[in-house]
Amino acid sequence: MACIFCKIIKGEIPSMKLFESDKTFAFLDIQPLSYGHSLIIPKHHGAKLTDIPDDQLHEILPVAKKIAAASGCNDYNILQNNGRLAHQVVDHVHFHMIPKPNEKEGLGIGWPAQ
Ligand code: IMP
Repeated sequence: MACIFCKIIKGEIPSMKLFESDKTFAFLDIQPLSYGHSLIIPKHHGAKLTDIPDDQLHEILPVAKKIAAASGCNDYNILQNNGRLAHQVVDHVHFHMIPKPNEKEGLGIGWPAQ
């Protein structure tokens, strides 16, 4: 299996793991758009949302919510790029949780201050 995210799930490629259950895995993005940028993925391999059975997706948003809350992040974007035209690069369904910077503490590396 050449899928990089399947290798991360199996521990064949190291990751900064944030959460794991029988259906779901979450880890820090290697090229974060902001501090805490995380990826939440179904363990079931599939390139696009249509390839993933519904029951494999039920935990995704609750886990994203938990990770954001645990890191004290209140403002964030949830993003899922589905297909090349939508800028999907890795062909294993994944949801980004991208925190907005904490302006008081100066966290965040990719978003302009507002
Ligand atoms: P996409 O454009 O939605 O497909 O985003 C793929 C994401 O996967 C990008 O934000 C990458 O930085 C991230 N990524 C690719 N390889 C790795 C890795 O080995 N570890 C963690 N994140 C990765």
